[in-house]
Amino acid sequence: MSEPSRGRAERVELRNKVNSEFGSERAAAYPRESGFSARPLHSGVHAVESPFASAEPLGKRRLHASSASHATNPRSDGNARTSEFYPAHVLHPRVIHGQTHENVKKPLRVMKFGGTSVGDASCMQRVVEIVRAATRESDVVVVVSAMSGVTNKLVEAGNQADAGNRESVAAIFEELRQRHETAANVLISSHEKRQTIVQTIQARVQEGARLCEDAIQRREVSAQVRDAIAGLGERLSAPLVAAALAERGVLCEAIEATELVVTDSRHGAAEPFMDLTRERCEARLRPLLLQGLVAVVTGFIGATVEGVPTTLGRNSSDFSGTIMGAALDADEVILWTDVDGILTADPRLVPGASSILEMSYRDASDLADLGAKVLHPKTMHALMLQGIPLAIRNTFAPERPGTKITSDGSSSGAGVRAVASSNDAALITVRAAKVSDTPDVLRRALATIAGVPVELRLAPQYSTAQDEISLVVPSAAAATTLHALRKEFTSDLACGIIRALALESDVALVTVIGEKLFGAGGLVGRVLHALGCEDITVLARSQGTSRSSFTFVVAQRDMKAALVAAHLQLQLTASAASGRSL
Ligand code: ASP
Ligand code: MG
Repeated sequence: MSEPSRGRAERVELRNKVNSEFGSERAAAYPRESGFSARPLHSGVHAVESPFASAEPLGKRRLHASSASHATNPRSDGNARTSEFYPAHVLHPRVIHGQTHENVKKPLRVMKFGGTSVGDASCMQRVVEIVRAATRESDVVVVVSAMSGVTNKLVEAGNQADAGNRESVAAIFEELRQRHETAANVLISSHEKRQTIVQTIQARVQEGARLCEDAIQRREVSAQVRDAIAGLGERLSAPLVAAALAERGVLCEAIEATELVVTDSRHGAAEPFMDLTRERCEARLRPLLLQGLVAVVTGFIGATVEGVPTTLGRNSSDFSGTIMGAALDADEVILWTDVDGILTADPRLVPGASSILEMSYRDASDLADLGAKVLHPKTMHALMLQGIPLAIRNTFAPERPGTKITSDGSSSGAGVRAVASSNDAALITVRAAKVSDTPDVLRRALATIAGVPVELRLAPQYSTAQDEISLVVPSAAAATTLHALRKEFTSDLACGIIRALALESDVALVTVIGEKLFGAGGLVGRVLHALGCEDITVLARSQGTSRSSFTFVVAQRDMKAALVAAHLQLQLTASAASGRSL
């Protein structure tokens, strides 16, 4: 059995043992004073039209079910056991209101919306329509960022608390309260429902103000408290989006990821424990999905096993989206943002850049490794292992396809996907007198570099016909590296075994990324020719570690012209679009 399919089988098994103990464990794990107290399972449910809705509000139905003693939980050991939390039809997913689950099984999509996508009421209305349309054919888990700029404000509130500035802290929370309430007033028409959401907003804002006030009194803002403050933005936006969905008839529940994403305790950059996270997502989200509810989950945050709130790092709600996708073994994760996906080049440098329809995880990682602000490799990692496709789409132009990242990226065939660049690099060239010495020079140079240590930006290549090796290092490390190499090769330089050790600062890397590039019509030669026509000197070149990229080193001043020439030569220009910068 292949790795991904074995994983799938294990998760199906896991799915079958919905663990009733999680409810109580969770409750114990989130002490009220932490500010991230566990909410009862049925809180925040918006009971509206649904194929499974009964006349009774859902929260009540669940309460009934949980106090009924016939809800049983089939365990892997074969012993059925009573659940305090889930009604029987949830624990026996095969039978839902008389229908077999197989009959109603829809694909599961995790849809993550970024800060600009939930930036104000009208943006949120777009989100609602996108989610509503998706629910017709999919089960949906929504993951949301904070409204744009809100996390910055919260971080600022932490800083102001650190400086003891009560007034600034108060002003920030007042502004946040107003901004969220304004959105709520536009989005929610019923007075009663508006009151409920406004109360939630006020409670979160007060929580933030209280955390800051405590910190001012203690004269210390710990990393833990900073995380609790920073994470409030998503805890404000998720209930708002849920309320807006409910307003449009989508049955949903807002859920805080502190209940789902179990992390280590590295505050500000916490890493998830996937096995525990998977168990919690199964226990908490799967039952909702089986009832046809949309879960609206906060991005960016998690909590340690002990229940201490953490954040996954700035701009990490994409990561939250892929964590959810991997944990639930989703059929697709879609990152909804304000651009048309990943582009063939940085549009600020290459005016004809267009969006890439499909690419492989490997190509996307290559782009990210080049410093492209595409997606952090860790964001893609778990999905890549499980072969779950990842799409990047534009909330403000949902009719456009955006970019799809898949295991083999091959539906658009072999060929070049993108041209990326990165600068702030330096090129060190070591030239041996005799070609036969090159392998030994390379070995010693690499050992020296490892000892500095310094990161090589380009895989050094040599061929038996070459008498020189090219080492590309970050500009900042150029002097130290050169010094170390001079030391290593002092006697070789003196006796002429090494002819030269030269530094070229301010170089840039121009990398061509794609599928099955080699054998693809003399690609390297074509690009070299195109650069030559523009009078651009190629200082070094190297095939990437995978066979899916090729890099040309040029002077920094030639970078833009090289990108444009390569982009044109490789016929990447299509209709102009706006997308994630490379
Ligand atoms: N709201 C968080 C931030 O701004 C996470 C995110 O938006 O990705 O860093
Ligand atoms: Mg954000």
